Amino acid sequence: MNLYRADLHLHSVLSPCGDLEMSPSHIVARAVEEHLDLIAITDHNTTLHGPVVRQLAAEHGIYVLFGAEVTTSEEVHCVCLFDTEEQRVDFQEYIERTIQRIPNNVDYYGYQLVVDAEENVVDEVDYLLISTTTQSIYEVQAKVASLGGLFIPAHIDRPKFSISSQLGFVPPDLKYDALEVSRYSSPSAMLRANPFVTHKRFVRSSDAHFIGDIAKQTTGFWMERLDFENVRRALHGTHGCDLEVLNY
Ligand SMILES: [Zn+2]
Ligand SMILES: [Zn+2]
Repeated sequence: MNLYRADLHLHSVLSPCGDLEMSPSHIVARAVEEHLDLIAITDHNTTLHGPVVRQLAAEHGIYVLFGAEVTTSEEVHCVCLFDTEEQRVDFQEYIERTIQRIPNNVDYYGYQLVVDAEENVVDEVDYLLISTTTQSIYEVQAKVASLGGLFIPAHIDRPKFSISSQLGFVPPDLKYDALEVSRYSSPSAMLRANPFVTHKRFVRSSDAHFIGDIAKQTTGFWMERLDFENVRRALHGTHGCDLEVLNY
């Protein structure tokens, strides 16, 4: 088994709250500096920056998961991760179909820019990406599972937009591949607050919106190889794969 260092929750300049410095090439350059092996681009309710980041990261041997941080109808943030372009496109269509279309107020929320590998702005999303979808957390989980993706409720310890803040607890009948604990708490503190959690698989990520925050919190993945199936195995703790969550 090899230990791979992962940061599975990164925003780019496409998220209105993402810093303008968070372009695909800057994100990759920082990931290289930080010796990350595995990253996921998880902008709010969009997967559009995944392909260009994957293309730029490939030459450095960094594996990029396609993803999005989806806002469910309960206003719970969930990290949804995929491997193939086919899965990404299907999921992108699903979000675009179900998100509430509110025009973005750039002065208030910030820019939502699509940037190419050469730092050119090639598009701008005009509807607000941080609004909610019409889909419940159960519906989003079912959609992700149907596509073969990975479903991770985000920053579950946080006082805003988390399972804890919106639902009060982790529902015992909710399926997930892991739970994300933010860099401001720890899995042990989370378990004290949620003693009924049965599936105790935790990841920790930076949730970076600024370049300097990338890799501020990471998770170690013990895997045979750097591929999607091994990421799934490590999240589930099967086939000898496992997670190494620091600051437990
Ligand atoms: Zn969030
Ligand atoms: Zn986030």
